[in-house]
Amino acid sequence: MRYDLIKRIQRLFTIIGLISFFGIVILATRDADFAFSSSRGAGWMPQLFSRPQIALISGHAGSDSGAICTDAAGQTTLTEAAITAAVSAKTATLLQQRGYAVTILNEFDERLNGLQAVALLSLHADSCVDLSGYKAAYSETSAIPETDARLTGCIAQYYATETGLHEHPETITHNMTEYHAFRKIDPATPAAILELGFLGGDQELLTAQQDRLAQGVADSLDCFLSTPSTSTPSTSTTPTSK
Ligand SMILES: [Zn+2]
Repeated sequence: MRYDLIKRIQRLFTIIGLISFFGIVILATRDADFAFSSSRGAGWMPQLFSRPQIALISGHAGSDSGAICTDAAGQTTLTEAAITAAVSAKTATLLQQRGYAVTILNEFDERLNGLQAVALLSLHADSCVDLSGYKAAYSETSAIPETDARLTGCIAQYYATETGLHEHPETITHNMTEYHAFRKIDPATPAAILELGFLGGDQELLTAQQDRLAQGVADSLDCFLSTPSTSTPSTSTTPTSK
């Protein structure tokens, strides 16, 4: 009798112990670097074993085709949205292989409202004109300009090297520095918009070498995320894309 009772008490304590242990594990992982939520609630995505969340906007997705190229008969031969969709997907795969959690968002995605992420990068491509080059910009009213500049600095370093493209800052417009998503996200989320190249002058690169583009984008984000945010921002020749 007495032995049975002791056994039963032991079992009870074991069960309580196990429940407490898993409770602590769940709470700890939930509070870890969980960083992808919408303050408006709609996009709240609890993740048990959360990792740094990167958000990519597939430019024009769910909205329109963006810039287009047409042939002599006026038929569309190439759309910006097709390029941004392909490069976003390839970039996400590369980053996931490196251990990052990546979410691809539509251009006017609900989840942009109050978005908290370790980085938001919106991928676009420029018009079908005979120009060449990439452009990266961040919000002109950014609350964290030095951090954002570090992101565009990494793009200047890695995307440019990987693709062989030069920056084309002369055509950075207010559409870029006043990009709609910059106003929607949490002010503490680092963010930039990247024009991958021109549909005209860079067409071969944009259509036939998308792996190179994705590699450049992934390396740029990796550069940004693997540099400690407390470090002094580089005061070298990094363009600020303003
Ligand atoms: Zn665009």
